Amino acid sequence: MDVLNSIRRAILQNFLKLNKLQLATVAYQFKVERPVYYPDRQNEMQRFNEQQKSQLVAETQEKKKLPRDYYYKILGVKRHASTQQIKAAYYTLAKRFHPDAANSPPHESKRFQEISNAYHILTDESKRMEYDQLGMVKDEQSFLHKFTNPDNVFTNRNRGDVVLPTTREDLIKMTSGESRLELTFLEAAQGLKKNIDLRFLKKCPACNGKSPQLVNRSKPELCRKCQGVGKLTKKTATYTSIQVCDQCHGKRYVNRNECDMCENRGVVLETVRIVAQVPPGVKHGELVPVDNPKTKQRIHYRVQVQPSDIFQRVGNNVLSDKYITISEAVLGGTFKVRGIYEELEVKLEPGTESHTTHTIKGKGIRSRDGTGDHIINFKIRIPRNLSMKQRQLIMALAKTEEHAFERPF
Ligand SMILES: [Zn+2]
Ligand SMILES: [Zn+2]
Repeated sequence: MDVLNSIRRAILQNFLKLNKLQLATVAYQFKVERPVYYPDRQNEMQRFNEQQKSQLVAETQEKKKLPRDYYYKILGVKRHASTQQIKAAYYTLAKRFHPDAANSPPHESKRFQEISNAYHILTDESKRMEYDQLGMVKDEQSFLHKFTNPDNVFTNRNRGDVVLPTTREDLIKMTSGESRLELTFLEAAQGLKKNIDLRFLKKCPACNGKSPQLVNRSKPELCRKCQGVGKLTKKTATYTSIQVCDQCHGKRYVNRNECDMCENRGVVLETVRIVAQVPPGVKHGELVPVDNPKTKQRIHYRVQVQPSDIFQRVGNNVLSDKYITISEAVLGGTFKVRGIYEELEVKLEPGTESHTTHTIKGKGIRSRDGTGDHIINFKIRIPRNLSMKQRQLIMALAKTEEHAFERPF
């Protein structure tokens, strides 16, 4: 090796005409494994980058080789899903991924396109069959071209939120049974914004409300999931289980127009949280209009005011009782009384009889048709259980009283 090294040094010295110091540097660089400016390093980096690029290309190409049931997967349905299940899945996803949807994740328009493609292929009976068998549809592009404007499809279908005329009777029946708005006395007097869970019938989004009609028109076909057996057999190493097919519920046949979502009613029940504006002073039996934001329908809630233990209402006037003691009735004074909107203060003359009424102007119910008064009825409460001291005092009082009011014999 020493011989080789000395030869190499001699060659370098001759070729490069280096001085001793330069020679030493070059020689050192050949000795260390990776010199600082290894001449091939740049090439190497380039090669590495290209390799990475080609790897990426390979990966994306692999992604394009989609699984055979890709369209089922993107809709999140099973291969044996019924047309209605596919439709239901599509409408749920389309609402989420539609580019115009309010909460649609950004840059998801491609996803939406794929969802729509899957939907169009799988809801077409012949295309679906082709896809099931081949894992692809031959004239897919030209077939999908018919649906070039997915927005139209989506928005048209989405008008299904409006309740069909055929179900309006049901709706009225349903809402009239539930349109009572229970309020406490004070809630009705003061008015409030009340949260209501409004339940309403909506045209089924899966079948577009058509399943009741369509289900009678189409013939049942053998169930895809159980192949018309009606039962599913699950075999494992240790046991075999037989279950009723959950697709056809053991009926062996399915009607492809059957709608699982609405069970062929054409409508589904939906609940929406709404805020009812209850005006102050609303009366028992009065109607409060509420707009359903989903259907743009106006529903009237009939107010049911619970009676109060304290207050009574006559028009816009409020009546309430105030109990006072004997001494308070005799001596008079200022009393605090509970009002509708605030605490009221009443001055009582000395020597007030029981059931004396006192009207406080403008402290009744403030409704749209004016403000009423608060009428207080003072009632003297006669004590029944006296303490020894109270009894002595009352007896002392009695001795001083004249029997002036007694009728002479
Ligand atoms: Zn339906
Ligand atoms: Zn079945």
